[in-house]
Amino acid sequence: MESFFSLLKMATKKDMQELTLYNTLSRTKEKFTPINSGLIGLYVCGPTVYSDVHLGNCRTFISFDLIYRYFLHLGFKVRYVRNITDAGHLEGDRDEGDDKFAKKAKLEQLEPMEIVQKYTLGFHDVMRAFNTLPPSIEPTATGHICEQIEMIKDILKNGYAYEINGTVYFNVEKYNKEFSYGQLTNRKLEELLEGTRELSGQDEKKGRLDFALWIAAKPETLMKWPSPWGWGFPGWHIECSAMSSKYLGDTFDIHGGGMDLQATHHTNEIAQSQACNHKAPVNYWMHTNMLTVNGVRMSKSAGNGFLPGELFTGDHPLLEKGYSPMGVKFFMMQSHYRSTLDFSNEALQASEKGYARLIAAIKLLDYLKTSDTSTSNIAELKQKCYEAMNDDFNSPILIAHLFEGARIINSVNDGKEKINANDLTLLKKLMNEFTFDVLGLQSETSNTSKDKAFSGVMEIILDIRKEIKAKKDFASADKLRDDLAKNKITIKDVKAGATWAIEE
Ligand SMILES: [Zn+2]
Repeated sequence: MESFFSLLKMATKKDMQELTLYNTLSRTKEKFTPINSGLIGLYVCGPTVYSDVHLGNCRTFISFDLIYRYFLHLGFKVRYVRNITDAGHLEGDRDEGDDKFAKKAKLEQLEPMEIVQKYTLGFHDVMRAFNTLPPSIEPTATGHICEQIEMIKDILKNGYAYEINGTVYFNVEKYNKEFSYGQLTNRKLEELLEGTRELSGQDEKKGRLDFALWIAAKPETLMKWPSPWGWGFPGWHIECSAMSSKYLGDTFDIHGGGMDLQATHHTNEIAQSQACNHKAPVNYWMHTNMLTVNGVRMSKSAGNGFLPGELFTGDHPLLEKGYSPMGVKFFMMQSHYRSTLDFSNEALQASEKGYARLIAAIKLLDYLKTSDTSTSNIAELKQKCYEAMNDDFNSPILIAHLFEGARIINSVNDGKEKINANDLTLLKKLMNEFTFDVLGLQSETSNTSKDKAFSGVMEIILDIRKEIKAKKDFASADKLRDDLAKNKITIKDVKAGATWAIEE
């Protein structure tokens, strides 16, 4: 057994040689070294489940699914924690406004937890449609009130917080005397202060940047819990500090989220954890970029914030048609997670075609005839795929290499290039592993009884056509092919017979 584990370690080490990732904290690409060899702790800020999941959030979760999948592919054991925010999120990131859940509950005449349940289920449906893997742990804020209270008690004990009328505030100026509060966004306290409003007589907090760790309940507050400071509820930021340290330790490897979380939510998470545990909580901070539509930032107020469901059905004035979840996912993967991603009908349609081309080529792999020699260097292609992913998870470059793989497959099929048996095995493995395991794409042929019956009928038609060709009645065989093409079914002749595909 021992030798097996040492071999496993060696294999992991070899694959890891060149993996670099962009760390927001240092603003550079760094070589990735996990705290414990072979194990990775990953925390990603999950959705606030008071409304349908936003497409920008989907991009973040799909990007971290790629990262999670790649680590698994390299043989790491990953504990991936993605929380569900089901309490404590006020409308303003700095504790202003109404509770998002309570407001929606009043609007829809439901209990706040009915809102939470409804949108958690909806979120899971969307994540399944995009074929993302579920995280190892999906903790909720309401399930970790005790841990949050304990953490706030420690921060108070350590002198970085104060209580006023049942609300506990984090003292940013005090913290900043010892640590750099704005380190994640590389900003000094003075600059941050410039961006916040002056305190008014109605404010309880002492400093403009101070934020609530615990908020006293008002008589009308629906979601509240008892605490040493009276009835109330946790501030939004404390849940991630409490849950990440509970499941991943006081310092863990990677923390991720959308870049809109950097300036406030993640900045506050670092301060809380450091003030509580006397340690920097995270070694690598990773952030995904935002979405734009036809060049304009996607937002509700701009009227271009379509939901995943609307994108799938095409039910939005900006959409010419519906786009399949895998087409959308492939489109997202064709941009690097740190670049902005611009949605347009043209770009989505081009991606859909590209995706269909890639899948069609992968299907052809089973029909290729081998030769004694190969005209392409498949080992080099494999190496390039790893190099792309080891370079800060560069999926667009990886996809470019997979298209090169598709080109080789089609050339071999057309008899223009040759491949030997070993290389074909290698090519099959790399095309399948990177497309399905790493990018997390899946073939979109569903398995309903109707689909199965249709596939059966198509096999019969292809058999009949084969017999017609055997009788050298090529005119009839071609007519059959052309008639099917008129119905958007493409027949492709391959060495071992023929394949069929429905045109998108
Ligand atoms: Zn968070």
